[in-house]
Amino acid sequence: MEQNQEEKTIQIAGSITVDELSQALGLSVTELIGTLFKNGIVATINQRLDYETAQIIIDELGLKNVKLEKKNTATKTSDYHRELSDKAVLRPPVVAVMGHVDHGKTTLLDTLLNKKTVDDEAGGITQHISAYQLKYNDRLITFLDTPGHEAFAAIRQHGALLTDIVVIVVAADDGVKPQTVEAINFAKSANAKIIVAINKIDREGADIDRTKADLSSHGLQPEEWGGDITMVPISAKQNQNLEELLDMILLTADIEELKADVDIPAEGLVIESHMETGKGSVVNLLVTGGELKTGEFVVAGSTYGKVRTMLDWKGKPKGKATPSTPVTITGFKDLPNFGDRFMEAKDEKTARKMALLNAQAAANETANANVTSTDLLRMMNVADNSKVFNVIVKGDVLGSVTSVVDNLKLIDTHGEITLNIVSSGVGDVNENDVYMAAGENTVIYGFNVNVPINISKMAARDNVPIRTYRVIYELLDDAKKEMENLLDAEIIEEDKGEMKVLGVFRTEKTSIIAGGEVLKGDVKPGFLARVVRDKKFIGEAEVTSTQKEKMDVPELVAGETGGLALKTTSKIDLQINDRLVFFTRETKKRTL
Ligand code: GDP
Repeated sequence: MEQNQEEKTIQIAGSITVDELSQALGLSVTELIGTLFKNGIVATINQRLDYETAQIIIDELGLKNVKLEKKNTATKTSDYHRELSDKAVLRPPVVAVMGHVDHGKTTLLDTLLNKKTVDDEAGGITQHISAYQLKYNDRLITFLDTPGHEAFAAIRQHGALLTDIVVIVVAADDGVKPQTVEAINFAKSANAKIIVAINKIDREGADIDRTKADLSSHGLQPEEWGGDITMVPISAKQNQNLEELLDMILLTADIEELKADVDIPAEGLVIESHMETGKGSVVNLLVTGGELKTGEFVVAGSTYGKVRTMLDWKGKPKGKATPSTPVTITGFKDLPNFGDRFMEAKDEKTARKMALLNAQAAANETANANVTSTDLLRMMNVADNSKVFNVIVKGDVLGSVTSVVDNLKLIDTHGEITLNIVSSGVGDVNENDVYMAAGENTVIYGFNVNVPINISKMAARDNVPIRTYRVIYELLDDAKKEMENLLDAEIIEEDKGEMKVLGVFRTEKTSIIAGGEVLKGDVKPGFLARVVRDKKFIGEAEVTSTQKEKMDVPELVAGETGGLALKTTSKIDLQINDRLVFFTRETKKRTL
């Protein structure tokens, strides 16, 4: 793969001015304003553009080497690079295992962690990031896993740095596949170190060298070929060479000198959150600095709470969590967002105040972006005839809601349909959802949630469709079909023939009887006819019968003279010498 164009990353915290964006892109302000203008936006140099708008502009300009990153100012995640003190201590590496489906990610983690997989990954995208820890040679390694890569990408979009090392699993009998490329790109964009595990080497079709060649054509050069990527051939299933893989992970961690301060207030990331009856909010955190203990106060985004219970990844109570440790806690008053940074606060009052400030910052950020992508799409003149598809998304955990929403937004409607997320949230479909859905083109999508019987009755009464899924792809397929139904059908017209009118026997309000000579093609009942006079369009009619010597015939062909009965919707004064141009018109349902 050619990589001669330097990649450029632009971070956007809420919004960016035209001036700032042009500088970041190395374009003149005039050029940028020109592009905006072409897209229907009259902008000034100080106009603020939101992330999505900036992305559309970059796409318009065809700048493939520019990446936009959303900075989450509300929760201060992305611009967060803590300077380490000299008291910082080594911490376990945080390793994400990624790769194409069926290449052996799950098997690798199962073998490493000696765990039995509970097959609960409906449809291949779990709603969350699962975290595990493994002790090897007396050192801990933290593993993160999500069957689809969306959750990693979502956290990344929040600007958070989650992983130190990405282990990319590639099956030696299958090579580089789309999700392998996705994993490579993710690792690069997250600035993580890459280690490749070439898996399934026990298989007959396994070809390590070919896999390496494949990887190297995707920008990953194996060390033994003079590159800088460690590649370890393994068999996850037969537990072959896994120790070497772990050695390589620890070696990389040592070279990177992964450290964290522990004598600071605890901080980290929310990697999953959901509500549980009797427990309230259950939140999975990855501690990145400090030490989190039960009884301490924590803030994440606009919510806060006191750590009531804390469990390790195996579900065992844990009194203290050090950096790189994944834990599950209860005690947050509300559900924090997936990807939010959490911080320890010294007391309840401070926690409440910080949460409030975060909420205000988030509100300001939204208010600050003057031009939103919805505005842009509206202005890009697609909106006049674009239709709106309204959805309400309910999911069992925040991660699944985010995943569904993010993937819905990825459905390309070529600007013809505007997706409007009316609301989204965690929990069963409720009365409020049905109230909100009582409009045109609105569907409630539930992912891994229930619809209480009274709610489904209410929805049936109000004609509100509620669809529930356990497989995300099925949900997305359905949404796509719904959107396709909203597309205007494609009209296909095919020219068939032409007749010169030689006699007009009757013209009434909705019918005409005439005769003439077929100049070319043919004419059959059912064909449509354009009436043309002096090259001008006069009207349209439908042929109801074709006749020859007063007898109905199935068709008239070029060279023949005959009679026609035509049906019209409004009166057409057909005249001698008018031309009838025959055609057929089909409407075809369009797909996205
Ligand atoms: P994932 O989709 O990446 O999580 O892939 P899985 O771990 O579910 O593996 C997909 C299939 O490949 C399963 O049938 C595994 O048993 C098989 N598999 C995984 N690793 C190996 C391996 O090293 N050797 C062989 N022969 N099969 C493997």
